Amino acid sequence: MAEVLDQLNDMAQGSSVTVAWIPSHVGIHGNEAADAAAKEGLNLSDVNSTAYIEWSEMKTKIQRCILNKWQSEYTESLVEAFYKEIEPLVSTSMKYVDAPRRREVQITRLRLDKAVLNSHLHKMKRHPDGSCKECDVPDTTKQLLLDCCRKNISLTIRNKCQMLGVECTLSNIFRYQSIQHVLLDKMVEIWGEQVM
Ligand SMILES: [Zn+2]
Repeated sequence: MAEVLDQLNDMAQGSSVTVAWIPSHVGIHGNEAADAAAKEGLNLSDVNSTAYIEWSEMKTKIQRCILNKWQSEYTESLVEAFYKEIEPLVSTSMKYVDAPRRREVQITRLRLDKAVLNSHLHKMKRHPDGSCKECDVPDTTKQLLLDCCRKNISLTIRNKCQMLGVECTLSNIFRYQSIQHVLLDKMVEIWGEQVM
């Protein structure tokens, strides 16, 4: 303390510095009460300040909890079987981004099983039976991607998968943009530019 006082006096250049204790707490009712409560708190057995967590950690825990709940509801739900085959895990990330926008729109339609295929048109009473004329089976997204013979579309997709060394599944088709580009080129061949 003496050393600190010496230094302060040096800095004060001629003026004298005095250090004194000031009873800031004592005698003020609110302060006394807070002090007493704090001391009492020390005796509580179930207080453990190290158990507190940071806000960022809390946020992560909340996000994880929401994702887990979402995942179990999604897994158990009976609808959206097609989409579940492509994306078995829920996440908040963007699913498909590509330029130009019409490509992005068409792939998104396919991902959501909402592409304008005959089965879809049939539901809107704009196609007599909803089948693919060439394959003679219901014209669905899954059929188009995995088995359809129109302009060898599914064969072309299978070949592309083989070139990339991946299994030809719905989830892989929607995972690799280069496969999607092959698919879209074939769709243009079948339906013309208006499909895009
Ligand atoms: Zn077909």
